[in-house]
Amino acid sequence: MTQSHTEVNSVPLLDVSRSNTPLREEILEALAAVYDSGRFLHGPEVSALEQHVSELCNVQHAVGCASGSDALLLALMANGIGPGDEVILPSFTFFATASCVSRVGAKIVFADIDPATYNISPAAIESLITPRTRAVIPVHLFGQSAKMDEISKIAGRHDIKVIEDAAQAIGAAYHGRPVGSWGQIGCISFYPTKNLGGFGDGGMLTTQSETVADKLRLFAAHGMQPRYHHREIGINSRLDTFQAAALLVKIQHLAKYTADRQANAARYFELFAENGLSEPRDGGAVQLPYQDPAAFHVWNQFSLRVSEGRRDDLRKYLTDRKIGSEIYYPIPLHQQACFRELGYAAGSLPQTEQAAREILHLPIYPELTEAEQVLVVETIAKYYREAYQRSAA
Ligand SMILES: *Cc1c(COP(=O)(O)O)cnc(C)c1O
Repeated sequence: MTQSHTEVNSVPLLDVSRSNTPLREEILEALAAVYDSGRFLHGPEVSALEQHVSELCNVQHAVGCASGSDALLLALMANGIGPGDEVILPSFTFFATASCVSRVGAKIVFADIDPATYNISPAAIESLITPRTRAVIPVHLFGQSAKMDEISKIAGRHDIKVIEDAAQAIGAAYHGRPVGSWGQIGCISFYPTKNLGGFGDGGMLTTQSETVADKLRLFAAHGMQPRYHHREIGINSRLDTFQAAALLVKIQHLAKYTADRQANAARYFELFAENGLSEPRDGGAVQLPYQDPAAFHVWNQFSLRVSEGRRDDLRKYLTDRKIGSEIYYPIPLHQQACFRELGYAAGSLPQTEQAAREILHLPIYPELTEAEQVLVVETIAKYYREAYQRSAA
């Protein structure tokens, strides 16, 4: 499957089979054991995975659930957040960070981002706090932690909860402290494209507090305790045993996947520099991702900033040459039709809107080969050479 240097003529944006195929026998064996056990829910593999994740995130408790989206929803439910409450979060994120807030009947308050990291701006959070603010949801976007030291201080000063959206950042850390251990609750996703990708949907919550962990379990199980006595209006959200069994095999390799992603990122930096593309020039070339020195970045995505006007043109050029790329996210949440009633005008979150116009993501998965990365960067260099020639002519 790894293509040799001379044969490479296309690069997929993502190919999950490259990490899953080498583990095929081991994972099928683990699934067969669950099959034979008949314990499709609440099997021992679920608590074993919870144990692994709690150690990885350096927290006391981890609670499996059906998805990263459910993890966020459960985090709000367990805090009793609802009508009359406000929750601050970025608009430059995946939809699920925001929809959970509307789902519980609370008000979404969008904060702008730091243009360097694309993560929520601590100063913006502080400026948006009101007496009704109950929580803030920093997202560790693309695998890089938000500024959790500053955010924790702000939240502490105003007595609001921090719920970390760590869906894209399992294994990441800030000042050496794992994501998922900074806030009251951390939310993890095992969606197949995430750094620990499952074979369908799955999620997990992390917390230091036993009381919070118990509440999360209660809300994830119909608010039922004991059986057929419903203390809360919960939901049904479980990580099933098949997912847990497969993820238990893959989590043994997570450190290696992370190291490989980091090596690929470092190689992109070298290749862009070698091709004279690493500095913006003539208002044309790309800007490479900024790495916060305090962050242990796990590179769920490698994002370029392509100055205005050229991004979509460059993307088409890559697509025509069978090089995968993607835009996360083309439409900020405050500009989505379903959130129109929140009343955010165009220009209200300028850094978010500019990022949505300029960002472009390249393949970065662990098994990406050097030859593939060379092809990606040389194709981008070729695009710029041709573009400059056209503009000089
Ligand atoms: C993937 C993702 C989610 C949702 O996770 P699912 O498991 O797909 O429900 C939430 N927030 C962010 C930032 C994500 O990238």
